[in-house]
Amino acid sequence: MRCVNNVKLNRFGRRCPVNEHRMNEMYDVSKIREDFPILQREVYGKPLIYLDNGATTQKPRQVVEAITDEYYSVNANVHRGVHFLSQQATELHEASRETVRRFLNARSANEIVFTRGTTESVNLFVSSFGEEFMQEGDEVILSVMEHHSNIVPWQLLAARKGIALKVIPMNERGELLFDEYEKLFSDRTKVVSVTHVSNVLGTVNPVRRMIAVAHARGVPVLVDGAQSVPHLSVDVQDLDVDFFAFSGHKIYGPTGVGVLYGKEEWLDRLPPYQGGGEMIQSVTFEKTVFNELPYKFEAGTPDYIGTVSLAKAIDYVSAIGMDKVAAYEHELTEYAMRRLKAIEGMRIFGDAEQKSSVISFLVGDIHHFDMGTLLDRLGIAVRTGHHCAQPLMRRLGIEGTVRASFALYNTKEEIDALVAGIERVRKMFYSA
Ligand code: PLP
Repeated sequence: MRCVNNVKLNRFGRRCPVNEHRMNEMYDVSKIREDFPILQREVYGKPLIYLDNGATTQKPRQVVEAITDEYYSVNANVHRGVHFLSQQATELHEASRETVRRFLNARSANEIVFTRGTTESVNLFVSSFGEEFMQEGDEVILSVMEHHSNIVPWQLLAARKGIALKVIPMNERGELLFDEYEKLFSDRTKVVSVTHVSNVLGTVNPVRRMIAVAHARGVPVLVDGAQSVPHLSVDVQDLDVDFFAFSGHKIYGPTGVGVLYGKEEWLDRLPPYQGGGEMIQSVTFEKTVFNELPYKFEAGTPDYIGTVSLAKAIDYVSAIGMDKVAAYEHELTEYAMRRLKAIEGMRIFGDAEQKSSVISFLVGDIHHFDMGTLLDRLGIAVRTGHHCAQPLMRRLGIEGTVRASFALYNTKEEIDALVAGIERVRKMFYSA
C-alpha cells in the first residue's frame, strides 16, 4: 500500500476503501500468534519462522482442542447409531457441513461433499464426470499453472477414455492469456478445470470471468480452491462455479479432510465415485439403490473428527474475517515483494496484477535446494522444488524454485528475517 497526496492507494493504484486501512489497523497479529503454540518453538536454537503455508498451515489451539474434545467426549461412528453418542457425533458432523456451506455461501448443505482433500475432490469429480459425460475425442481445458492433482487425474481419464487435454498458456508475469483461453473452446469441450490461485506464482486467476465464458458455451467448470480459500473470501454462488475443491489442512484445519462443492443439479447427475457403506439406500445382490446427496459420494466412515475440527478452523478464520485476512496478507505480500526485489540477483516468478501471498524465487545461480537448506539452518522454513507443478516449471525453463508463502499469523519482522537470511546465503556463495 502506498500514499499519493495523502490518499492511500493499494497495489493496483486504486484508492483503498476506508475499511481496508481500519481493518489492518485493527488486525492484532500478536494476539493471533498466541493461538498457534508451534510458532513459539525454536529450531536449531533459533525462533521458528514458518513460511511454508502453501504446503500446510499451522493449527490454532481451537482446532487442536476440538480434536481432543471430540475423541475424549463424543467419539462414536456417525449416521448409524441410535445411541446418544452416535447421535451427538452425527449432529456435530452435519453441523460442520452447514458451517462449510455458509463459508462458501452454497445454496444447500447437500452440495457439500466431504473428501480427504483437494486431490480426492478432483479425482472424484474427474472420475464421475468423465465416466458420465466424456467420450473419446472430448476435451478438457486446464491451465499451464495447474498442480499435478489437477493434471494427472485427467491424464488417467485420457488413458481410459481417449479424451484430450487443452492447456491455457500464460504471459511472463504469470497471468493466463484470456484470449487464448477463449480460443481453446471447441464443440468437443466438455469441461474446464482450473486453479483459482497458483501455488507457485500466487496468481489469482479471473475465474469468475472464465466461468462466464465457459457457461456461455454450456460448459461446466471445476475450480481448484486449495490455495484460494485460505486467503480470499469465496462465494460459490457469486462465482457461479459448478464444482469447487479445497483441503482442510491449508486453511488451519486438520489433515485428511477436504471438500468438493458441487451444484446440486450437477451432483444429482453424477454417478458415485466409490461404493460401500453410507452411500446406499438399499442393497441386494441384484441391485443397489444409492443414497441421496451428499451421502451418495461419501462411501465408508467419514472423517467425522476431521470435519468437526475443520468447522472450528472455518469458525476461527471467519471470526477474524476473511476480508481482514486478505487485506493483511496483501500488505505482507506487497512488503515482501518490495524487499525481495531489492536483493541482488533476485528472480521472482509470478508478478501478476492479482497476486496472493505466495512468492517463488531464485537468487543468482544458487540452487533452490541449497537456499532452502541454508535458510532452514537459520530457522526459516520455506519450500523448495517443483511444487507439484512440473509443467509450469518447464514453461518457466527451470527445475524448481524457493517458495515463501504467508499466512494470517506471519509478520513483517519475519519477512525481514527472510530477506536477511537470503542476503547471508547470497554472500556465502558470491563473496570472494
Ligand atoms: N491444488 C493446489 C493448487 C495445491 O496447492 C495443492 C497442494 O499443495 C493441491 C491441489 C493438493 O492438495 P492436497 O494435497 O491437500 O490434496
